[in-house]
Amino acid sequence: MPTLLDGVKISAQIKSEVKAEVARLATQGIRPGLAAVLVGEVAASKIYVSNKVKTCAELGLYSELITPSASVTTEEMLDVIRALNDRDDIDGILIQLPLPKHVDTKALLDAVSADKDVDGFHPINAGRIQAGRPALAPCTPAGIIEILKRSDIPIAGAHAVVVGRSDIVGKPAAMLLLHEHATVTICHSKTRDLASVTRQADILVAAIGRAGFITPEMVKPGATIIDVGINRITDRAEFEKFFLGNTKREETFAAKGATLVGDVDPHAFALSSAYTPVPGGVGPLTIAMLMANTVRAAKLRRGIA
Ligand code: NDP
Repeated sequence: MPTLLDGVKISAQIKSEVKAEVARLATQGIRPGLAAVLVGEVAASKIYVSNKVKTCAELGLYSELITPSASVTTEEMLDVIRALNDRDDIDGILIQLPLPKHVDTKALLDAVSADKDVDGFHPINAGRIQAGRPALAPCTPAGIIEILKRSDIPIAGAHAVVVGRSDIVGKPAAMLLLHEHATVTICHSKTRDLASVTRQADILVAAIGRAGFITPEMVKPGATIIDVGINRITDRAEFEKFFLGNTKREETFAAKGATLVGDVDPHAFALSSAYTPVPGGVGPLTIAMLMANTVRAAKLRRGIA
């Protein structure tokens, strides 16, 4: 039987460690602070940000929610970011994406001080990670490493195949796996004979954004599968392709008219030695790592090891 890598449990462990560290820093008069900037009224973004703010409160971090209207200009946003960069009580700045189309997202992300870039999106942090320097790593890739390490899955010497090369998931995940001494292959939409590459993976990371894209034929028996994808499916035929006979999923689908599936066809998990489910795998780590990054940023900025 494959082992289910329980992201909710691992995330809870990390959060309790962060909480303990926040309490320790409090004895030195330090309270790490996160500023979350939420532009406009995007429903999903509001939920994500409110979860982040709520988690800050649970762990004892200071948080501040800034909510410019959807008509905010790039210049006005730059002023908001510059002010946060200058504040000593703010250690992390989070710009919730996506931003309205008229706003220059890249310019704003680049304007966040690299030392407060708790999402790990700034090119300076990408460079620091590549150079193996102390850095704020993007939360989802950092969470993948935590799942593997805390589940005692050997990374050193393993062949890790990462499908997807985005700046926020695929590329940094590959770099972090390389630092952990995996032999890393990065695949993307132009990769020839993808299945022949994924079948070589001891650790297969799927970060593609296509429901159930990795099929059982693409998996080496005994591999560890890390499914980063989050895809909402509403089509009955698609649902049946992945979840026919799964009573629990049937109930969710009947009640909500939708369910989540990762980038891996759930039938492939049976071949693995261990896998992250969707939901409940990589997803919960993202907030935990954001909290960990905020504490790390607070320490790095003050020169505390
Ligand atoms: P992007 O769309 O930015 O990147 C997708 C990558 O997949 C690209 O590199 C693309 O290749 C590659 N790809 C697309 N089609 C194929 C194909 N047919 N064969 C091989 N590779 C392909 O997505 P993200 O990296 O932002 O996100 C990936 C997934 O992870 C999404 O489902 C997203 O929802 C999820 N996600 C989950 C998070 C979590 O907290 N669990 C956080 C962030 C993302 P190319 O570069 O050639 O176009």
